Amino acid sequence: MTSERFDVVVIGGGINGVAIARACARGGKRVLILEQNDFASGTTSRSTRIIHGGLRYLEHGELGLVREALRERERLRAEHSHLVRPLKFLLALGAGGNHSALAVRAGLWLYATLGAGRPSAVDGELDRLERLLDSAQRWSVFHYDDAQCEFPERLVAEWLCDALAHGADARNHTRVLEVETRDGRATGVRARSLLDASEFRARADWIVNASGPWVDRVCAAASVRTRSPLIGGVRGSHLVLRRFPGAPASAVYSEAVDGRPFFLLPWNGQLLAGATEVRDHADPGKTEPGAGEIEYLFASLNRLFPGAHLSWNDVQATFAGVRPLPYAPGEKPSAISRRHFLHDHSDDGAAGMISVIGGKLTTAAAIARECARKIGIDAPEPALAAAPSAQEIEAALGGWSRAVAQRAHIAEASARALAEWHGAGAAEIAHAAAMDERQRAPLCEHSPHIVAEAVAAVRRECASTLADILLRRVPVALGACWTDQCSRTAAARIGVVLGWSAARAARERDAFEEERAGFWKRAEAVALQQRG
Ligand SMILES: Cc1cc2nc3c(=O)[nH]c(=O)nc-3n(C[C@H](O)[C@H](O)[C@H](O)COP(=O)(O)OP(=O)(O)OC[C@H]3O[C@@H](n4cnc5c(N)ncnc54)[C@H](O)[C@@H]3O)c2cc1C
Repeated sequence: MTSERFDVVVIGGGINGVAIARACARGGKRVLILEQNDFASGTTSRSTRIIHGGLRYLEHGELGLVREALRERERLRAEHSHLVRPLKFLLALGAGGNHSALAVRAGLWLYATLGAGRPSAVDGELDRLERLLDSAQRWSVFHYDDAQCEFPERLVAEWLCDALAHGADARNHTRVLEVETRDGRATGVRARSLLDASEFRARADWIVNASGPWVDRVCAAASVRTRSPLIGGVRGSHLVLRRFPGAPASAVYSEAVDGRPFFLLPWNGQLLAGATEVRDHADPGKTEPGAGEIEYLFASLNRLFPGAHLSWNDVQATFAGVRPLPYAPGEKPSAISRRHFLHDHSDDGAAGMISVIGGKLTTAAAIARECARKIGIDAPEPALAAAPSAQEIEAALGGWSRAVAQRAHIAEASARALAEWHGAGAAEIAHAAAMDERQRAPLCEHSPHIVAEAVAAVRRECASTLADILLRRVPVALGACWTDQCSRTAAARIGVVLGWSAARAARERDAFEEERAGFWKRAEAVALQQRG
């Protein structure tokens, strides 16, 4: 068994783990990050994907959390404007709720003031939504601005590349089996590659347990006993729907049938509705929506939009994730704080080990800086640059796509697709496409995304399997019209460039299909479940 020495070992390659590895590598530390499945395959890819301050946390008086998250939202918008886009939200509140119009307006004013300023105009969207909503409920509709990262998987890939560029070592499909301790200190980890079963040891001064909803499992494997569990997992489920006629172009934030928060968002050419809050202590990797949750989401949608006549045929897929919230027995899931905590294990007999509890996509970079400081790195707050507007992003994408399409001999739609998902990295992918006809081919007949993106995913972004490529680095398989034929076409086209044998391509395809079915439950299965 080999053994290597690092300054920091990070366990878990979700958005928090990768952000921490990046902050530590940028701070000059020798870092190893280990992920048991693939980067961003856990909670990070199972979220509602909103980059927000959390309007409803204002109600809980969490002003500090909202201010921090809004600052992070603006940083993400400025630094990753191709991935984190401004999104208008329409807030629809039914008559007889707990909030007076005056209180809501005051809350929205505060939210806008803590964030980027006054809400932008919504051009008739309010009227359109009011016409769609069930008129019997006498809705009041307001609007505010937030942001969306349609693909946090891509954000994680970009941060991972940055960590690698700063000298980090990253291994996915590698499970930490044990955290080793001696004389009250964590000294290293023992891990196994799930691809070839090889085992190795890594020694380190610091071990960061950023395994999200798996945090207590990793502690147990480390024989690190905490006074109480650190995490209280709360599952959230979503529906992915076809866009229905008249569906709002803005996001809608309203109330579910039981008055809980409910979102309907434009997402990836489809609509994303969610999410539920159900306590879940089972294996977070195997979580899936319960029949009752699907029924609840569907009933909430139909209550809001009875005129849309939605049926089970409109549901494309469902998926669920487990929120790694702080352990709070007896507390209502919606009342548990969305703050993050860094738990220092010195009193648990493992000095030098830190567990990350809670957090949101939006605040991952802030957690990373906090963790880096705990490790002794000088990680200053980055300056707040002005984020571009939707129009400025559009103009930049349009200009770039037209120029690159010609040079790389690809369709303008493909050039745009490259820029949207890969930002500054798109130029190198376009160059590879220009040099090789096979890499210019689309991944499937419906998609503008091309084989060169998949090749870059393997060569630059640590993708090892077809599932890593099609579900996370180039997540075309989450699109509206993905079929089995698309899987076959993509596997064959990628395999030719990467030199896969026919047997390897078939194996990769089977494993990809199995993983996709486990995570992205198909509409037919949902309909069957409801009928059954
Ligand atoms: C339903 C839902 C909706 C949400 N919506 C939003 C939203 O709209 N906006 C927002 O900002 N946030 C949202 N969140 C919160 C956000 O998604 C999470 O806080 C964030 O993704 C947590 O990231 P993480 O890195 O801590 O955990 P994860 O992404 O789960 O990463 C942990 C990783 O650790 C790995 N791991 C576990 N055990 C081991 C081991 N032994 N060895 C190696 N690796 C291991 C896992 O495979 C996993 O990939 C939502 C969450 C949920 C569930």
